[in-house]
Amino acid sequence: MTKTITVFKGDGIGPEITDAVLKILNAAGADLEYEIFNVGAKEYEKNGKLIPDEAFTSFDKNKVLLKSPITTPVGKGFRSLNVTLRKKYDLYANIRPAKSNKAVKTPFENVDLIVFRENTEDLYVGVEEQIDENTVHATKIITRAASQRIIKDAFEYAVAHNRKKVTCVHKANILKMSDGLFLSIFYDIAKDYPQIQADDKIVDNTCMQLVMNPQQFDIMVMPNLYGDIVSDLTSGLIGGLGLLPSSNLGKDYAMFEAVHGSAPDIAGKHIANPTALLWSACMMLEYLGQNDVAGKIRKAVDEVLNEGKHLTPDLHGTATTEEYCEAIIAKL
Ligand code: NAD
Repeated sequence: MTKTITVFKGDGIGPEITDAVLKILNAAGADLEYEIFNVGAKEYEKNGKLIPDEAFTSFDKNKVLLKSPITTPVGKGFRSLNVTLRKKYDLYANIRPAKSNKAVKTPFENVDLIVFRENTEDLYVGVEEQIDENTVHATKIITRAASQRIIKDAFEYAVAHNRKKVTCVHKANILKMSDGLFLSIFYDIAKDYPQIQADDKIVDNTCMQLVMNPQQFDIMVMPNLYGDIVSDLTSGLIGGLGLLPSSNLGKDYAMFEAVHGSAPDIAGKHIANPTALLWSACMMLEYLGQNDVAGKIRKAVDEVLNEGKHLTPDLHGTATTEEYCEAIIAKL
């Protein structure tokens, strides 16, 4: 049965890459219908709401959202819409796979790792308190329930996908209580998965190890802030943010988005790389059981990347977003 999904177009490069991705999904024969909404900073300026009520209603109903990046003001203004969505729909598991592609040359080869980022708590609860004019406190929350479910998901994924190892990333040497709790829960849960190797690394060491020997990592699980930072680093290992997709999964809802932001520096120039959003859409198709269509798109993308004739500038090519998109459609 045709599945109706909700689509948020977002800011900056959001509308360009959304159009490209929807075109490819249609050309590949995805069994989908779309309810498409403008959301984000522009929508806020126009209608006073970041997300129109109808857009929320649509996601409430369809339970699956393909989302483009949204601009968030730094240091002032509204709370990040991404954080709001993750919290409102309890999208607790942020899954960010980084896999080397032979066609994209970087100093790193054979990277194949997946970051499982806890998505609902840690410093991202956004609780800050002005103590006096020179002092601000920010609250970091780590709970047993939220830690257990993301860590369990990481191990379950490892089993289901024949992965060998799960690494817990933390700073429990300094944050002995909060990250200490996360780490102790990790080793408790690891006992239930004797077939999967479990180890842990402090986050700063992890960053160094990722650029020295990224092949040692397989599945990585970590609290929210480290997950945000480490996964941008892992995107660098495979050729940049234009290539890093993600899913945000909860019990009842699922949201799929590129890891990158709205890239205001290149918005409207028709040079944005839509691959991260396209691969996020493939994760969505797989989530919906449309594996054949996802496979077809992944194969076409690989062919275009391998040929190297129609690459966007972030991959050292000269193609526009639209030319890259047409090249993929031609392969389908
Ligand atoms: P960014 O990810 O938007 O851009 C970082 C760099 O990567 C820029 O040079 C940009 O041109 C490049 N880049 C990003 N995506 C690309 C793509 N698809 N193709 C080619 N190049 C690409 O990060 P930023 O500049 O720090 O953030 C811009 C805005 O996006 C901020 O308001 C931030 O809050 C927001 N943001 C939103 C999300 C989201 O909606 N999920 C995620 C991260 C940042």
